[in-house]
Amino acid sequence: MRLTIIGCSGSMSGRSSVASSYLLQADSGGRTHSIVLDFGPGAMGQLLNYLDPADVDAMVFSHMHTDHCADIVGMQVYRRWHPEGPLGRIDVFSPVDALVRTRQIGGDSQSEDYSGEFHFHRIEPGQSVEIGSMVLEFFPAEHTVPGVGVRVSGPSDVNLNRDVLFAYTGDTDLCEGEIEMARSVDVLLSESAFEDGRDKVRGVHMTGSRAGELAEKAGVGKLLLTHLQPWTDPETVRRAAEDVYSGPVHCVRAGEMFRF
Ligand SMILES: [Zn+2]
Ligand SMILES: [Zn+2]
Repeated sequence: MRLTIIGCSGSMSGRSSVASSYLLQADSGGRTHSIVLDFGPGAMGQLLNYLDPADVDAMVFSHMHTDHCADIVGMQVYRRWHPEGPLGRIDVFSPVDALVRTRQIGGDSQSEDYSGEFHFHRIEPGQSVEIGSMVLEFFPAEHTVPGVGVRVSGPSDVNLNRDVLFAYTGDTDLCEGEIEMARSVDVLLSESAFEDGRDKVRGVHMTGSRAGELAEKAGVGKLLLTHLQPWTDPETVRRAAEDVYSGPVHCVRAGEMFRF
């Protein structure tokens, strides 16, 4: 699998990155399957740098806060009004009704169902779906709205003889569901929106130390930190995670690609 950071700025777009969005791809049977994980403000434009949006197989939303989903309306316009004709519909997975949310963002009426562009599926923790050679499993997150973390198994991009495990926390505080999700994964992409000592509220986001605790308890191979807000210092968060987690830690940047 390959992970491309389309955007990683937490809660809003930032100076050097758009808001949350990740491209996860895997090759099998002579073709590439491409999944967009979250699609926050600005993600549509950045996605154009990495692949033709016509080649996206599915969109998966960890939750439907606007900083993770706003550009679904850009994807909808692109698919319906493409100058070469409509692109057809793709599967959209989310923990709440993404049809309603898309209408709200798009300012569209109740009669609009986007059925030419999207096939909406509601996901619950405990469910799994297959997209090409990737299997996605959903786990409960602890956030201010219904949300999930997602674990993905799929073919390795560096060792063709094995499958690898990847997990993405979505927005969450440290919780049992996320530890279960991250257990023994090769790569964990974890939100780390809060700074230890500065952000005291619980049940919303993780700090660097809580992301590190998640990675250490779950025994992950590598920890990638994301969703840092523009007012947060990456070095502070990374050091806090490193103090708790014994493996490699990296704060992702927009445009980076990870093969595993
Ligand atoms: Zn967020
Ligand atoms: Zn959120």
